[in-house]
Amino acid sequence: MKKKTPAAVRGTQDIYGIDAEAFAFVVETFDRIRRLYRFGRLEMPAIEKTEVFSRAIGETTDVVSKEMYSFEDRGGHSVTLRPEFTAGIARAFLTNGWQQHAPMKLATHGPLFRYERPQKGRYRQFHQIDTEIIGAAEPHADVELLVMADQIIRELQIEGVSLHLNTLGDAESRNAWRGALVKYFMGVKGDLSLDSQARLERNPLRILDSKDRQDQILIAEAPKIDSFLSDEASRFFEDVTSGLKASGVKWVRSQSLVRGLDYYRHTAFEFIPDKGGEAASRLGSQSTLLGGGRYDGLIESLGGSPIPAVGWAAGIERLALLIGSSNLHNHHCDVAVIPAGPNVEGEVQRILSTLRKQNISCEFAFTGNMKKRLQKASAAGAAFAVIVGDAELAKGEITIKDMVNGEQFPLSLDVLSQAISKMLLEKRIVQDRNEGVDPNL
Ligand code: AMP
Repeated sequence: MKKKTPAAVRGTQDIYGIDAEAFAFVVETFDRIRRLYRFGRLEMPAIEKTEVFSRAIGETTDVVSKEMYSFEDRGGHSVTLRPEFTAGIARAFLTNGWQQHAPMKLATHGPLFRYERPQKGRYRQFHQIDTEIIGAAEPHADVELLVMADQIIRELQIEGVSLHLNTLGDAESRNAWRGALVKYFMGVKGDLSLDSQARLERNPLRILDSKDRQDQILIAEAPKIDSFLSDEASRFFEDVTSGLKASGVKWVRSQSLVRGLDYYRHTAFEFIPDKGGEAASRLGSQSTLLGGGRYDGLIESLGGSPIPAVGWAAGIERLALLIGSSNLHNHHCDVAVIPAGPNVEGEVQRILSTLRKQNISCEFAFTGNMKKRLQKASAAGAAFAVIVGDAELAKGEITIKDMVNGEQFPLSLDVLSQAISKMLLEKRIVQDRNEGVDPNL
């Protein structure tokens, strides 16, 4: 009897084809731009001791209380598959004694795991690009991170997404605001959703995140942070916004945007698709693309001294969903090499390796008759076919076929890679000229 094939784990994805190209394009763009901003690359373990997350993220959060993949390893230690990057990076900063390198500008990407209800744009294994600046208290750091995020989204040619910005103030402002919010929500407690009533006990700022309609009406009337900002906190926010203006980054103020944990300070932000737009309809209800803020107390919660830090993370799958396929330079194929005789195998291998070493991308078409092989070359999008036959080889030649205009001519093997490089260059110039691109650029 045929055995049943095990299914993939719920909420995981096998990403292939155009989706995998989009995924790779996000990572490549991120990696290129983080170099422009001089962020160092960091590779992190996908697994940490559970307390790294429970202490840094907080026991009362949904992530820690409901969504973590935690288990005892064979040595009896409680470990967790990372649900986010920041906590592990803060742990690494302390365990490696990186204080000496502060301020550190760090960039990483990779898989994360959260036991959430899967739907479009929300998975149990998903991937993020992530940046952090650790050890910088100045608003300049917040600006640099936001300008970088904006540039990444622009260079991915994602349209219809806005930066929503808020300040949570310093400790003094935030505590005063929190007190006023608790007082206000206590007064309307009976009208709040059950979820928000529970939040009032555990994490009142999180009420501002509620999507419940009735809650939203009450939230609109709730006290606003601006009435509680100290002079210092106001100045910080002004410095951030004037830095954004100088850098040409547009933003909208979102007074109910919060980060629930106590150690979040000052800047909080999200990039969100504009309501009713194309990006919003593609992402479904899972709308936040990128989120971050300043977390000046997190490192202390892991036993370090108070070290200011700011960072953001964005979902690679969500970014990939929004880049149009026209922006993807799919595996372009320069040359298809086609054997046309019984004794040419070795020479074909030699040609393939020579061309690839010259940065020429090659496909190898060897099945079916000559017509099938040429069809394969054409399906791969090859600019030229290199046809290797016994008789020509004996004269030290191969046949080149221009796959666009069908022209065919012999070429000496000695000059093959130089000639192909030159022909490809000419073709690209012609192509670029047709598309109106200046070939000198
Ligand atoms: P967070 O760490 O929750 O602030 O999330 C930062 C970004 O990661 C979000 O804006 C999303 O783009 C992405 N993200 C978070 N959770 C998921 C998930 N379960 N599936 C896919 N992407 C996610």
